[in-house]
Amino acid sequence: MDKWKLPWLGGCRCGETRFRISAPPLLSSACHCTGCQRMSASAFSLSLAVPVEGFSVTVGEPVIGGIHGATRHYFCPRCKSWVFSRPEGMDELVNVRATMLDDHGWFVPFIEFWTSEKLPWAATPAVHSYAREPEESEFDGLLRHYAETAATPTLNRAA
Ligand SMILES: [Zn+2]
Ligand SMILES: [Zn+2]
Repeated sequence: MDKWKLPWLGGCRCGETRFRISAPPLLSSACHCTGCQRMSASAFSLSLAVPVEGFSVTVGEPVIGGIHGATRHYFCPRCKSWVFSRPEGMDELVNVRATMLDDHGWFVPFIEFWTSEKLPWAATPAVHSYAREPEESEFDGLLRHYAETAATPTLNRAA
């Protein structure tokens, strides 16, 4: 059984930017940093880290927005929705905003970052919590644990 039910389609608020995901995600997360609070206009951002070869923009031409730094944040040029990011030094993956998926009801953040900056009431069901970010040495274990236990479109672990 394909527990991921790929491919997934998604897009921005107005529909002028659309994308397709054809590879299983490596990790799901919530980021509580104040930068994500600003860009998401909310308490935290939600991400699915997807292998770059499994992500394609199918409609539109997203533009760089946000901080305009080494980590590139891509937005729809018309509605300005924050659709995905290309994090600095991680060319092998794309961080797609989970709520941009047409079907995202199954999404659960597996890890959460930057809880040191979170709003006092903000909470997620993430099973790994970090005041800042995980150590580089922890990533292999995290990816393995995610692959084994993650919520998927066929199994929502928080439900
Ligand atoms: Zn749009
Ligand atoms: Zn953040």
